[in-house]
Amino acid sequence: MLIQRAPDVYEKLRHLGGMATDDVLSPAERSDGMARPSEGWERVGPRGGVTPHAGVYRAAMPNGKRISLMRVMFTDHCIMDCHYCPNSYWVPRRRYGFKVDELARLFDEMHSRHMVEGLFLSSGIFKDPNATQERLLDVVEAIRSRYGFSGYVHLKVMPGTSTDALLEQSQRLGARLSVNMESPSAEHLRKVSTMKDFDNGIVAPMKRISELMQERYGGAVGQATQLVVGAADESDWDIYARMRSLYGEYGFKRVYYSAFRPVQYTPLEEHPATPPAREHRLYQLDWLSRIYGYDTEELRPAFDTGGFLELRADPKLMIAVNNFERFPVDVNHASERELLRVPGVGPLAANRIVKQRAQHTITQRQELQAMGVVLKRAMPFLRFPGHKPVAAKQGELALFPEQSTVRSQPAPFPRHSRFSRHSREGGNPDARRTVELHAAHAASGCASCPLNPGTCGMAA
Ligand code: SF4
Repeated sequence: MLIQRAPDVYEKLRHLGGMATDDVLSPAERSDGMARPSEGWERVGPRGGVTPHAGVYRAAMPNGKRISLMRVMFTDHCIMDCHYCPNSYWVPRRRYGFKVDELARLFDEMHSRHMVEGLFLSSGIFKDPNATQERLLDVVEAIRSRYGFSGYVHLKVMPGTSTDALLEQSQRLGARLSVNMESPSAEHLRKVSTMKDFDNGIVAPMKRISELMQERYGGAVGQATQLVVGAADESDWDIYARMRSLYGEYGFKRVYYSAFRPVQYTPLEEHPATPPAREHRLYQLDWLSRIYGYDTEELRPAFDTGGFLELRADPKLMIAVNNFERFPVDVNHASERELLRVPGVGPLAANRIVKQRAQHTITQRQELQAMGVVLKRAMPFLRFPGHKPVAAKQGELALFPEQSTVRSQPAPFPRHSRFSRHSREGGNPDARRTVELHAAHAASGCASCPLNPGTCGMAA
């Protein structure tokens, strides 16, 4: 007979805090403003062990301040079939879930001990989107009204949430909201999930949240989302087009990109992983569009004919190389916008150059370096007294240090297992059994759930 011990709250936190890191929203950012997508969140506290430090992460806030957040899922039990997700019903493993009260109390305890300054709350969809969202809101309501917490809460809105009252309450209680879009279009989403509805389940709540944020004073003021890169064979151009519309039409604060990694037991377990460099290039593209003000026509040369970004060089460099006739740029006379188009010159450096040259003519490369210009990248594209690149084309020689012609390096296939064999042969029996159990759970409710007897928090 299998006897399962009910996990205590710290074991749940250790597990559900770890699962939440698969979602890379709000990665730490470098001082030059470029996100470090592959690093994601930075965990603090001792590694492993049953300790309340699990689930604590450092995150960069919109104002650049870094704070510690309790980053946790309410449950990793999910009835959905997203082909890239370790929480999807394909994956046969033990699931965990908090009760509303225990999660709220745990947050208050950690906040009182100055271990965390805010909360990032996500969840798998354990029954249906509305019921899950209701439970997440119960947690936030408890920490706001019962424990008097008025700080930062990043609240996920479950895809498929359709009740207006729940969206309104989410906007009222959260500080930042996000509905994960995952794929750039309905057509792409269909390739990775048969259960999600792109227009009604994802775009509609996003649109309603945008309206609520404009109509109301107070509550959440920013919306974000995440796209999984490489799972649905979408191009970088597809992602770029979606990113432009999210920032433009819906006023999103951030779009995050997460390189696809195959998950054992899922239908995509043998799909090659997306190289982290692709995710990084998309963050750079996002930055050029959002912060540097490049328009679509300016960005077009960064893409190849198939709509993909070059992995060996950043998009800004690719655009400069494709527009060599515009360089070198005169440091002492070019506009701030022109300076910003020079590889190795960021917004801060361009602004400093403009201010400095009002005092005196810039003649020294050391001056540029002191203002934040990355000389190695910028020198082939800049001109000032004493420096004129002999031929702009010379700069091109230094563009691709590794003269590799390989666009991407697909990650090695995952080890073949009995499950991958089962998948090729029409599904593995363990996963099928899990699907049946989930169906039973959804049909009969928590009381008779056969998945985690005594451990499931959904009945709270
Ligand atoms: S809805 Fe999809 S992506 Fe979200 S937890 Fe469930 S399976 Fe994962």
